[in-house]
Amino acid sequence: MTKRDYYEILEVPRNASKEEIKKAYRKKALQYHPDRNPGDKEAEEKFKEAAEAYDVLSDDEKRRRYDQFGHAGVHGSGSGGFEGFDINDIFSRFGDIFADFGFGGFGGFGSSTSRKRVHKGTNLRIKVKLNYQEILNGVEKKIKVKKLVSCSNCHGTGAKDSNAYRTCPTCNGSGYITRITRTILGHMQSTSPCNTCNGEGKIITNKCSYCAGEGIVYDEEIITINIPAGVAEGMQLSLSGKGNAAKHGGIPGDLIVQIEEEKHPDFIREDNNLIYNLIISIPQAILGTTAEIPSIDGGKIKLKIDPGTTSGKLLRIRGKGLPDVHGYQRGDLIVRVIVYIPTNISKEERKLLEKLDESDNFNPENAKKDKNFFEHFKKYFS
Ligand SMILES: [Zn+2]
Ligand SMILES: [Zn+2]
Repeated sequence: MTKRDYYEILEVPRNASKEEIKKAYRKKALQYHPDRNPGDKEAEEKFKEAAEAYDVLSDDEKRRRYDQFGHAGVHGSGSGGFEGFDINDIFSRFGDIFADFGFGGFGGFGSSTSRKRVHKGTNLRIKVKLNYQEILNGVEKKIKVKKLVSCSNCHGTGAKDSNAYRTCPTCNGSGYITRITRTILGHMQSTSPCNTCNGEGKIITNKCSYCAGEGIVYDEEIITINIPAGVAEGMQLSLSGKGNAAKHGGIPGDLIVQIEEEKHPDFIREDNNLIYNLIISIPQAILGTTAEIPSIDGGKIKLKIDPGTTSGKLLRIRGKGLPDVHGYQRGDLIVRVIVYIPTNISKEERKLLEKLDESDNFNPENAKKDKNFFEHFKKYFS
């Protein structure tokens, strides 16, 4: 399924301010709110879609990556993503958006969900080093990550068993405290999370001994990361929900994968182009030759070097560079010719060169008249 553009979903311009984005999301969220559209699957999808767009565009870092790399920049290649979020996740993450609108609060969203606070795990950052071959084809990496994971002993609840709870006496299990203040405009109602239970609505009376009641423990996890072709040094992929687990079965953080590039013995990368330095001899430069250029796809490419080729000349082999991360066409392989001038010569060679130096064709005075040569170096002359 192709994802829609986030700005299009929220109907905001690309330079929209944070406030505009929040406003636009609130409008969409209220329009497609499940309480207003009971049983309407399409509305639910739109509701989720808007939340996903808001999740990215309201976060400076995620928005920057999205602007630069599109969906690939924030979700990797289909791994992670927002797909794992259900309606309740949206309320717990963006619940404050609805608070002013009479939704949520103590009526809750539907019968089963209330606005009890859900903990959010922290994001994890890792670096992944890739060689050009991996960047060319895209790669699946399995990486061992040290992170907070859900406690297997208590299934992340932090409680010894299902009877090890009692309802919070301060908030009577709602997780929120309501204050009513009298003003000249009438009664104003405000809510805030309950301090006694941290907004959870219940208190653990008998803690899991394995995680000391936190519901999370440090462990290692092998995470599979699908890296799309064409990524570059410094790019970041975000795997939703693959970060640290959250306390008491909350929502895990994201795993942010930062791309690093390994140097290649043959090529230098410039955007999606690859540069190859081809060193030829003085006779080859003058007489012309056929060179064999290594290809990132494997094998060699035969390249004709014209007679009279000067040092610094760039020759372009189209489509043999690296792919674009957005899936557009590949960059080029650019061959930079360097003419080798030896520093050690024999007596015999010296004689040959001195003879050549006497020849009129080698007189540098001819350079400006030599159209072939001058074309290449004219940028140096006024
Ligand atoms: Zn535990
Ligand atoms: Zn409480």
